[in-house]
Amino acid sequence: MADGDTHIVCPSCGGTNRIGAGKALIAAKCGKCHEPLFEGQPAAVDAAAFDKQIGRSDIPVVVDFWADWCGPCHAMAPSFEAAARDLEPKMRFLKLDTEAEPAIAGRYNIRGIPNLIVFKHGKILAQQAGAMNASALKAWLAPFAG
Ligand code: ZN
Repeated sequence: MADGDTHIVCPSCGGTNRIGAGKALIAAKCGKCHEPLFEGQPAAVDAAAFDKQIGRSDIPVVVDFWADWCGPCHAMAPSFEAAARDLEPKMRFLKLDTEAEPAIAGRYNIRGIPNLIVFKHGKILAQQAGAMNASALKAWLAPFAG
């Protein structure tokens, strides 16, 4: 990011986009598939899309590790969606289904869900196990949203 450009990974096709300094991220569209790079909502990812997003994004990426059978995960989903509306494009919001992608959950040693991890350039900045309400979630994410 030394040149002022920001690399943003498209949630639709996984293509890496380089956005010039000063360009509005919120309005940016993917150069490859022409979908918006930010839709103000969490994007569901599989293992391949997850690796691209956390490895190539210049913005922090927060991942909700969840599963369909998990009641607290469903309870927290609206708060996560509200945070995405507020904080994109300062951060990317992703949801990873731990049942569909157990290898990713295993890589991060996730035993209980919901489990949230904030990544930057592939490194873990913060991790939180257990559900949070909307205000606690926003307060937890605020330092990363700059
Ligand atoms: Zn795309």
